[in-house]
Amino acid sequence: MVASIKPHRDAIGLTDGLLLIDGSWGPAAEGQAWSHVHPATGEEVASFPIADAADVDRAVRAARRAFDEGPWPRARATERIRVLRRIADLVRERGDELLRLQALDNSVPLSFGSVYATSSAFVADVFDHHAGWVDKLAGETLPPYQGGDHMVLTLREPVGVVGAIIPWNAPLLLFAQKAAPALAAGCTIVAKPSEYATFAVLRLAALMEEAGLPAGVLNVVTGPGEPTGDALISHPMVDKLSFTGSRAVGRKIIAASADGFKRVSLELGGKSPALVFADADVASAAAITMGTVTLGLSGQVCLAQTRALVHRDVADEFLGTAEMIGGMVSYGSPFDPAVSASPLINTRQMERVLRLIGEGQAEGARLVCGGTRGEGDLASGNFVAPTLFTDVSNDMSIAREEIFGPVLSVIPFGDEDEAVRIANATEYGLAATVWTSDIKRAIRMTKAIRAGTVGINGYQLEPHAAFGGFRQSGLGREGGRPAIESYTELKTVLLPFTDEMM
Ligand code: NAD
Repeated sequence: MVASIKPHRDAIGLTDGLLLIDGSWGPAAEGQAWSHVHPATGEEVASFPIADAADVDRAVRAARRAFDEGPWPRARATERIRVLRRIADLVRERGDELLRLQALDNSVPLSFGSVYATSSAFVADVFDHHAGWVDKLAGETLPPYQGGDHMVLTLREPVGVVGAIIPWNAPLLLFAQKAAPALAAGCTIVAKPSEYATFAVLRLAALMEEAGLPAGVLNVVTGPGEPTGDALISHPMVDKLSFTGSRAVGRKIIAASADGFKRVSLELGGKSPALVFADADVASAAAITMGTVTLGLSGQVCLAQTRALVHRDVADEFLGTAEMIGGMVSYGSPFDPAVSASPLINTRQMERVLRLIGEGQAEGARLVCGGTRGEGDLASGNFVAPTLFTDVSNDMSIAREEIFGPVLSVIPFGDEDEAVRIANATEYGLAATVWTSDIKRAIRMTKAIRAGTVGINGYQLEPHAAFGGFRQSGLGREGGRPAIESYTELKTVLLPFTDEMM
């Protein structure tokens, strides 16, 4: 058996969650609750309220009032900067506690706590980065187009009430990526964490309140897509929906936004390629590519490089290293320092991953290692062994579908043109990595690949670098100027200096 997580829950004093509405914590009106089952042990961790349409309405109205009448959208830049920097400081001070809560949510191991997507330091950096935008969110002064003594100015104003919908895989970071720019721009928020990762978000929200946000600026409603998420995305008083998650829910959000023309940002999935050329450091390419797909969140990462396009001459070397890395992955309690990877989030996701592995075999891909569910001590959790396929062709389901599990598909290629063609033959376009020692080739590949982020000989997210997808990987960007601007409306001001005005 994987060791019980209950002593860790008790050690940090986790109790049942509550809704945050208008500065107060309380239960759902109807008293319904969701009990969170830990993915590594099957134990019940704690429960939280299922907010229904009436609870969501209370939260949205609180955010609306705070936007229309409250101090936050009208606050001086210094005040917003002070609160955002204080949030960053509190996240740094309480980072260990936040990571423990995240481990109770989705079982990401504490040993992985320094890696960007799951680290609290990165979350603090996101708040610091956006604090820096508050006094730089400027419009423009345009030269008069038709001559004369008039001026044309543009102003950036907060977009209004933001509905932020968060997935379970990196709940702290993905909450911060929405809340920090929204707050920096002067918006108010109703956030809905995933029903599979609620507790870390609730604690981060409590720290944000402690940092000095006025009541109603941040509200958190908990519960699943239906009823909670549905009520939020269809609420007429929400001005913008900011979502990270699956394409299926992304489509619902676009449909819901049509009524009222809400602004929308979507960060969706990926089927990202790693292109490994014969002149690359093949061992590093294999170790890092297999690592992004198996370590930490076990491939439950939107930017995981799940298609390894490997030059035929180095395919055997790549497979040897990747298999070795797969063999080093260790599963168990996220609180065990020797554990390096998580289980899958729930049994439904585990069964889906096992089904796709079966389809890969049936379609003719060769299984190098893994492919099975964890047994023995691991049977209490949703563990799937690190899985490596070779001889994969890009039309197989394992090369097309976002598996969201520890499965790497190796697709051999012969030359650059073929590599680019395969890399771009996907409905997604989130990320890619190019592995080569030839700088000219690296530049050619960077231009040819249709993806929102391209890494050369590695991959490292930065809080100030825009992140998002081409094609079905999403709409809009998180991080940097494009993100903060997406939480604003642009207003044009016309100043005609006529004689009568002077
Ligand atoms: P999901 O779409 O199932 O759920 C995401 C959120 O949407 C959850 O909070 C969920 O409760 C909510 N939701 C579900 N149904 C809803 C509805 N009808 N109305 C409103 N909200 C609803 O996704 P998931 O399983 O939590 O996360 C995995 C997906 O997220 C993957 O596809 C992954 O690629 C993607 N992802 C993308 C990024 C990125 O930055 N591009 C980052 C992480 C995850």
